[in-house]
Amino acid sequence: MHSGTREEAKRAALPYGRGSVSAFKLERPLLSRARQQAVSSLLLAASLMASGLWAQGPPAGGRGGRGPAAGQTVEKIRQLKPNLYMITGGGANTLIRVTPDGLIVVDTKNPSDENYNRVMEEIRSVSALPVKFVLNTHHHPDHVGNNQKFIDAGAQVVALDALKTRMASDPRTKDIPGLPTVTFAKDYVLKFGGAEVDAHSFGRGHTGDDTMVYFPDLKVVMVSDQITDATPIADFANGGSAVEWTQILDGVLKLDFEMAIPGRGEPKTRAEIEAYRAKFAAVVSRASEAIKAGATRDTLATQVKTDDLGWQFNPQFYGQLYDELTRK
Ligand SMILES: [Zn+2]
Repeated sequence: MHSGTREEAKRAALPYGRGSVSAFKLERPLLSRARQQAVSSLLLAASLMASGLWAQGPPAGGRGGRGPAAGQTVEKIRQLKPNLYMITGGGANTLIRVTPDGLIVVDTKNPSDENYNRVMEEIRSVSALPVKFVLNTHHHPDHVGNNQKFIDAGAQVVALDALKTRMASDPRTKDIPGLPTVTFAKDYVLKFGGAEVDAHSFGRGHTGDDTMVYFPDLKVVMVSDQITDATPIADFANGGSAVEWTQILDGVLKLDFEMAIPGRGEPKTRAEIEAYRAKFAAVVSRASEAIKAGATRDTLATQVKTDDLGWQFNPQFYGQLYDELTRK
């Protein structure tokens, strides 16, 4: 099932992340960042054309510019790697791992019959096998919304203990059916149909129940909303943490991966995850310095500059960050 596909040929052509972490570090200086991005763009264009997405125009435009807002429509399934697919839109990104014994799905989008039916329509275009397992990356509605429909169709939903607790208590999710059916405290290894999927809790960040989902044989990790294209959001009311955020990324960076899938948006490279970690660490250290220099809970937002990072946090974020940094 891993022989000579076009995806494998493309993967072999990737200039980064191949092999071990040390191999990656040796290879990286050989190609400039601009060249890497050019290669990535070509590969993306090739995969978009292969999947037929190209002909439908940019995914953010929805269908013909009418109907729901950008990102609300479940888009066409795309192959990322041999036996690994992604569906964007309708909430967060959804991943599908195909095995000879059935399918493993990561995250189930915003709750609606239409989203579920569209996801299944797209899945059916690549496999007729049943979905046997669902993993959730955290409890937010755009990640767990259609869990129950997968359970009704015969799947187990695997998630952190903390995810189940928060999904049952968060006002935004407590009425969404489909609590996880199998839970774990910190790490979980799912071996099914010859595939392995590892789920890891490395700490608190976007929420208190962030779960990194790793496909070791494909060198792909689902980092979910721990990585964003816009300013990061920490759900402090549900266990989120700005101070522990980089700890999760440190855990991710210890994995041997070449592609990281965010909750929304396009796959990222290892270099992009490293850069994001450095930016987040800069925010926390600047806040820490500002507090040492006399900033208070109320003035911290005006004492920390992030323009150079391209992020604009709100005053509430800084209030919570102040509490975290001054808590003994
Ligand atoms: Zn989220």
